[in-house]
Amino acid sequence: MRTVLAGDLGGTKCRFALVSADFAVHRVQHVPTVRERGAFLAALDQALTKITSDLPPDCEPPLAAGFGTAGVIPLDGRSIDRAPNLPLDGFPLAKYVEDKFGLTTTLLNDGRASAWGEFLRGHAAGRDPLLCLFFGTGIGIGLIVDGKPFAGGSNAAGEIGHTTFRPGGRRCPCGGLGHFEAYCGGRAITERAAELMGPTTGVSWTVGAVVAVATGIGEQAEAARSILVEAEQAACTLVANACTLLNPGAVVLGGGVLSGWPALHERIVAHVPAATSSAIHQNLKFVSTMGGSDAILWGAAAATRRLFAPAR
Ligand SMILES: [Zn+2]
Repeated sequence: MRTVLAGDLGGTKCRFALVSADFAVHRVQHVPTVRERGAFLAALDQALTKITSDLPPDCEPPLAAGFGTAGVIPLDGRSIDRAPNLPLDGFPLAKYVEDKFGLTTTLLNDGRASAWGEFLRGHAAGRDPLLCLFFGTGIGIGLIVDGKPFAGGSNAAGEIGHTTFRPGGRRCPCGGLGHFEAYCGGRAITERAAELMGPTTGVSWTVGAVVAVATGIGEQAEAARSILVEAEQAACTLVANACTLLNPGAVVLGGGVLSGWPALHERIVAHVPAATSSAIHQNLKFVSTMGGSDAILWGAAAATRRLFAPAR
């Protein structure tokens, strides 16, 4: 069976595997995202060598490689720009993998890779246009149009988390003021919790911990509720705005904020019809992400154009 090498390069860990034409994921290797480039590349080499030298019995050697990665990918798709959590800023990763492993390598943004995977195999597979919104540490987005991710004029489309929710408001991790991500991104929620409620005992705040505190009584509970009220307003407004702008056939919602706070999914689903015209919401379907990072691996595999038949 035909295969490609696929990767999910994340801010805390990376996952590499062989993906076959039946969407099966084989020989998964995890690599911690260490900050030192030399050590990271040594671990990457080791993982890719393991995968390519130990093929499953019914799998052919990989035809190409595709990596979904955090950060912005320049138009030529050869390197990673502005990836604050990866030791690869400006590094020619595609050429590096090609030279070491002889595999033509494609890089794409991880939000787009996830969306492509969701379009191919997720709960709203085949719905086009498909809008995917991931409320994680930051806010990831992927829009599938005519069966492939919409990239924009300079490969930078979709940064809706960095549009303005409250003019002059809270500082966003990107440096801007009042952006949606500064209110409903996971990092913003937990940083706000630490600001208002102090450190938790021995562990960092999580979105789930803020939700748990908000169910109680007292000052801490009120502070937690105020964070969540604002986060909910931001998330609901963001999704309604995106739906009005893009008129998707379906919306996939996912990310760590929703895992820690499942009620937010239902609130978004309830809000959108109230905040959009009937033409936008009458046939709109909301689904949850497939979860895990297999969707990113499928999307990264699809980006090689060597494995799956064109969706259209
Ligand atoms: Zn921002």
